[in-house]
Amino acid sequence: MQALVLEETKRLTLRDIDPHETLGPRDVRIKIHTVGICGSDVHYYQHGKIGPFVVKAPMILGHEAAGTLVEVGRDVKHLKVGDRVCMEPGIPDPNSKASRLGMYNLDPAVRFWATPPVHGILRPTAVHPADFTFKLPDNVSFAEGAMVEPLAVGMHAATKAQVKPGDVAVVVGAGPIGMVTTLAALAAGCARVYIADVQQPKLDLAASLVPGAVVPVNVKSQNLGQVLRDATDGWGADIVFEASGNERAAAGVFDPLAPGGRVVFIGMPGAPVPIDIVAAQVKEARIETIFRYAHVYPRALGLMGSGKINLKPLITNRFAFSESVKAFDFASNMPADAVKAQIEMPV
Ligand code: ZN
Repeated sequence: MQALVLEETKRLTLRDIDPHETLGPRDVRIKIHTVGICGSDVHYYQHGKIGPFVVKAPMILGHEAAGTLVEVGRDVKHLKVGDRVCMEPGIPDPNSKASRLGMYNLDPAVRFWATPPVHGILRPTAVHPADFTFKLPDNVSFAEGAMVEPLAVGMHAATKAQVKPGDVAVVVGAGPIGMVTTLAALAAGCARVYIADVQQPKLDLAASLVPGAVVPVNVKSQNLGQVLRDATDGWGADIVFEASGNERAAAGVFDPLAPGGRVVFIGMPGAPVPIDIVAAQVKEARIETIFRYAHVYPRALGLMGSGKINLKPLITNRFAFSESVKAFDFASNMPADAVKAQIEMPV
């Protein structure tokens, strides 16, 4: 089959490749419709590795996908041919200690699409376990279905933050993950989310997502801590979500935080970040981190199906599969008004 293959750092080709898949009794075969380009895909393209994960052999990219079932294994009861679905890209060992403790995302044996050496999903069809394949609500498009993966990250972060109704939150970074975290925090009950970035077009888009509830803060000209103190009688934000991965931003999370507040680190800085422990201690900050998500897809689809979360405005750029290399070059230098680029497979 034709797939988008990362041959080595900075070299992508559209070519024939056999991912060697067989359909087991509890698997489904999916015809892929839409695949989102993730920051991690771009990072492998540009640098050939993320932390300990190194691309050593040609690998198909892509892990944010939706499609239609064309075949189901004989033991699959809850899905049928023709169902529109999205897929959770990480498959853990169900018997691992991490899985049995309810945190399968931390299973060292997890096999995650487009994390070397596992092939990704930028190809016409894929075989996947039915248990990690989820039916889309009728009012959710394939393009939105391919956004469930990043949304799951934001929802996992909102869950870790233990949002209470009426909380005031800060989201640092208005990229795709900052945007979905903003939507997840509001859906979880935040009264307001202050979203910080240096790119005004992204802030404008964020503010339009839920008018009145999302407050843009351009940290080129505004001091985030001061904005929050001014807005909260000097108290600060109940929650700070760090979604930029920027080292300076990550070091500054305690400034806008309220006493007793929670910080969730979502972004992955490229290098170790010095953290001011005393700045955290004087506020008794609770610090959380997240790595992907565990069984969040059904809740994400529930919020999308009911209309409480609308991801359509975040899909800013679409490319045909035949233009995949161009799409990745675009995503490697995203303009300020672009959030999520997606690739549409031929019908
Ligand atoms: Zn992703």
